[in-house]
Amino acid sequence: MVARRTFGSLAEDYKDVVVATVCSHSSLQIFHGAKQEGFRTLGIAIGKQPRFYDAFPLARPDEFLIVNSYKEIADHADDLVARQVVAVPHGSFVEYLGAENFAKLRLPTFGNRSVLAWESDREKQREWLTSAGVPMPKKIARPEDIDSPVFVKYYGAKGGRGSFIAKNHDEFMAAIKPGMKYAIQEYVVGTRYYLQFFYSPIADGGYRLSRGALEMLGIDRRDEANIDEMYKLGAQERLRELEIYPTFVVTGNMPVVLRESLLPKAFDMGERTVEKSLELFGGTIGPFCLETIVTDRLEFKVFEISSRIVAGTNIFVSGSPYSDLLEPGMSTGRRIAREIRTAQKRGLLSEILT
Ligand code: ATP
Repeated sequence: MVARRTFGSLAEDYKDVVVATVCSHSSLQIFHGAKQEGFRTLGIAIGKQPRFYDAFPLARPDEFLIVNSYKEIADHADDLVARQVVAVPHGSFVEYLGAENFAKLRLPTFGNRSVLAWESDREKQREWLTSAGVPMPKKIARPEDIDSPVFVKYYGAKGGRGSFIAKNHDEFMAAIKPGMKYAIQEYVVGTRYYLQFFYSPIADGGYRLSRGALEMLGIDRRDEANIDEMYKLGAQERLRELEIYPTFVVTGNMPVVLRESLLPKAFDMGERTVEKSLELFGGTIGPFCLETIVTDRLEFKVFEISSRIVAGTNIFVSGSPYSDLLEPGMSTGRRIAREIRTAQKRGLLSEILT
């Protein structure tokens, strides 16, 4: 087990935990779940207090902290600790604050922040997953080597923005943005499934790992503009003539279920991912998502991992076909709050906070 450097111990004296997150991404679900588990909640908003919570009273945070920029959150860390805050990260929180700043935030935070070093660098992400035995799309080392369709993506979670398909070196050169770090993968043809797992190092029972248990809380697929509807306009070559190029910007999510015979493979990949993470950096704790493509040979390829709550879980605020079989009505937001509650009762907060 690798030791975790931690501000989680700051929460050990908390009597009345306040669950906080940035007002975006999956905040409705996080606040709703925290309230269901009896926590007070705090929304961190950039610029001004958002009005949309007024429309969703069951998910409206009890208090707000308004800051001028994401970076300013760090200036309020002492005040937030005094208010007994535990921060719950989500994709926008980490991406907009910056992985490095987020890692240094002097605030007890749900999950293991050491995962960031492994997740935000696409090379290290590949090292983690492939050394775990999780299948990934082939990596293409140099743009000059492109001789079949590839997928090019930049570093960090961008909600698909900027990614592009290239079929040869010329197409790569025409689309690449200078000065940005990128990775090139084989373009995998198949169907996408975003597997939403939850790893608890303190759970008893369930799908056992070397420590704790692995749960599956849901599966979604993303709606991506404009690629998803492009076929309606005709063949790709004709579209290029019209200077319309495919983009992969996430605009929404749809619930899906997996062919049941694929579940053992899905759990095997989840298990390998967690066991290797325990060995490498003390474990990916709480929600994580394996973003996969299933080919017509019924093989998974994992093209990316997100090691926190993903926005695709928002579909399942009142449970999913999978989480309903754990406990009806369990969302990922609520599962996070439940984990904090259980750990607090058992004096194990340092196991799940950093
Ligand atoms: P996030 O980190 O927010 O999940 P991202 O921008 O890092 O998003 P990408 O890995 O760029 O996500 O993937 C964006 C989309 O591109 C995917 O949802 C999928 O449709 C497609 N995609 C990614 N990798 C591949 C691949 N190897 N083959 C085919 N399609 C892919």
